[in-house]
Amino acid sequence: MNIIDSKKIWLSSPHMGGTEQKFVKEAFDTNWVAPLGPNVNGFEDDIQEYLGNDVYAAALSSGTAALHLGLKLLGVTSGDEVLCQSMTFAASANPIVYLGAKPVFVDSERETWNICPVQLEKAIQDKIEKGKKPKAIVAVHLYGMPYNIEAIHKIATTYKIPVLEDSAEALGSNYQGINCGTFGDIAILSFNGNKIITTSGGGALISKKKEHKSKSIFWATQSRDAAPHYEHSEIGYNYRMSNITAGIGRGQMEVLDKHVNNRRRNFEFYKKYLEDSSEIKFLEEPSGYYSNRWLTCIETTSYKLREVIRLSLEEENIESRPLWKPMHQQAVFADCDAYLNGVSDDLFDRGLCLPSGSNLEEEDLFRIVSVIKNVLR
Ligand SMILES: *Cc1c(COP(=O)(O)O)cnc(C)c1O
Repeated sequence: MNIIDSKKIWLSSPHMGGTEQKFVKEAFDTNWVAPLGPNVNGFEDDIQEYLGNDVYAAALSSGTAALHLGLKLLGVTSGDEVLCQSMTFAASANPIVYLGAKPVFVDSERETWNICPVQLEKAIQDKIEKGKKPKAIVAVHLYGMPYNIEAIHKIATTYKIPVLEDSAEALGSNYQGINCGTFGDIAILSFNGNKIITTSGGGALISKKKEHKSKSIFWATQSRDAAPHYEHSEIGYNYRMSNITAGIGRGQMEVLDKHVNNRRRNFEFYKKYLEDSSEIKFLEEPSGYYSNRWLTCIETTSYKLREVIRLSLEEENIESRPLWKPMHQQAVFADCDAYLNGVSDDLFDRGLCLPSGSNLEEEDLFRIVSVIKNVLR
């Protein structure tokens, strides 16, 4: 097929449900165009209701902003060390550095591709032995697959280290019926353009403590003390979500479950048509795990095969991407400690994310698998 003739298939593109414009129009009609306003409160209520478990949500300008304020709420400060899953998007680790602290990277386990309990405990014990107890643990539900909830939180409880649950990719996922985004001492969500729902850009900080919500909103709106003039006793940030953006979010919440179903359908489709190949493997849900399948990822048998598949898709105007490059391999984090077992390096070598949008048509999916099948043949 010629690239000019074929429709571009994206890895994960925004998918509007239809009612977003109604909420945005309401904001215009009532002139609530500023930060704050009924959509912001409404969106927070929707998130709280969806997640359940008596959580509070603060709508912010991005998932990264939520991570920044979340770590600050957990007391992370200059000179601290924070344990962080190595295989993730850089946004999980960057806010540690914003606070003057240092990331210490921990490798993944095979079962979920997320932070490995064995390496995590090793890192904690080693750091305590060296006289520096880590201040927090950043654990990530990569591609929507929950991390090993039981093992990770048991370790966190044993050593009394709080967990920041990076649920940016896992809205709609759960472990034993309990929603991702409600496990950590603090959790974060992202509504960036490629995520399972989007507000064009945005995030949320989630906590069971009401004071976490109020404090993060205080910091996110420039830390204004109660006074008629502008009075400040703390450093503030401009991190609040706008009422326009939140209007998009309210519409998107109405189609979240549909998006999850569509993304899971993508996974099942790829599996059905590709799983008989011995050269491709899929990440299965361990018992009790429910992934939103934000992105369907495959593990190929070699770097070479992965690249042939990726480049063949590119030739057909189909976007795919290697898995997240681990943070311990990134130049910017070269001087950070890391506790490694080889898993994330290996996954990065051989893994590929396939187009996974909730708006993919069946003919798109057929087009994608036929390119891959041609390579394998
Ligand atoms: C997208 C993402 C973030 C950051 O969210 P933004 O809203 O883009 O700032 C953080 N962590 C992970 C794992 C992500 O995928």
